[in-house]
Amino acid sequence: MTFVITEPCIDTTDQSCVSVCPVDCIHFEEGKDRILYINPTDCIDCGACQPACPVSAIFPEAEVPAASQRFTAINELWYADPAAARAQVGGEAAVPAPAAAAAAPSSAAPAAAAARPAAAPAAAAVPAAPQAAVAQVSAGHAPPAHQPLSPAGFVWFVLFAGVFVLMFVVPGPPVLHFGSVSIGLVMAALLPIDVILGVMFIASQVRELHGFAATHERRLGGWRSLRAEIRRNEESRRYLLAETVQQIARERFAFPNAEYPDLRTYVNLPEPTLALEPRGSGDKLFPDILTVSYPGNRPVAVVQVETRETVTRDQATNVWAQLENQDAPVYLYVPAGMLARAKDYAGSAGMKRVKFRTWRWTPNGMLVRED
Ligand code: SF4
Ligand code: SF4
Repeated sequence: MTFVITEPCIDTTDQSCVSVCPVDCIHFEEGKDRILYINPTDCIDCGACQPACPVSAIFPEAEVPAASQRFTAINELWYADPAAARAQVGGEAAVPAPAAAAAAPSSAAPAAAAARPAAAPAAAAVPAAPQAAVAQVSAGHAPPAHQPLSPAGFVWFVLFAGVFVLMFVVPGPPVLHFGSVSIGLVMAALLPIDVILGVMFIASQVRELHGFAATHERRLGGWRSLRAEIRRNEESRRYLLAETVQQIARERFAFPNAEYPDLRTYVNLPEPTLALEPRGSGDKLFPDILTVSYPGNRPVAVVQVETRETVTRDQATNVWAQLENQDAPVYLYVPAGMLARAKDYAGSAGMKRVKFRTWRWTPNGMLVRED
């Protein structure tokens, strides 16, 4: 099987698919072609190009819509007879505007043609060494700035304070007596309301206060740095990390399997194999484990595993938060005993869809706990 580019690509040709193809098998001649073509011999069916296409022009060969079936042959034809393929697509691309024409190479062999293998053996395009591919995701969000008082909290506080003051300014005729203390009618009526307003104020501030506290260093936060002082040499740490990542992948993300034949799991340690690319960013992120649906390489689980040295505020901001996206949850595996700290740092980095797990090696193997 191969993947096929169909008519929605005509006159779009934005080449988003080209940049994600790990074997460089999508081609066209700029200025001549109105559509791009996938080399059916070189395509390895990774599916990375399909979600990258903004106009949904790419399909696995077996799923090409009936009305577009002819493009399967057209894609293949271009690699044997480009002119014949162009004729079937509807002719050559429009002549570029004068300025662009001046910039284009005047030679009959444009730059893009050089990228098209003329008669190279098909296998030559497949990298001998493992090569990182890309799964595109919608970018997450920037970490929010936390303020000690939220707008909603401000409103609740003003109402609370207003009613509180009113109770004492206009207490009303005394109706309750506690020794020498009398409570007026207005005060008795407003007291429950003020209590409710106070509770609403506190409730509206819990999240904000948590975020604010987490993003600011505490003077009395010595416990946070205690474990960071326990250091191992880097080789030991990386060895443990690789072992742990492999074990978690085997135990928890062993896809495909009989129940989920459409899922694939890629492990990015010790070598990167599949990257996440937030759409339009050009960045390539390599979580330790990445599970995607196939075909299409749509992420379904992004997994990051940490050792005790790497559960840090910097790691949360610069690594964990970057992995968060709108398509798949982030699973964060931290050593047992470091969950509270990890949650604190993830909260400070503004993460919302993170699922926490703790891991611990025991004489009987690895023990993973879900939060
Ligand atoms: S399926 Fe993979 S190998 Fe084939 S064209 Fe798309 S990105 Fe390239
Ligand atoms: S991403 Fe889609 S529209 Fe853009 S060049 Fe590739 S097939 Fe054509």
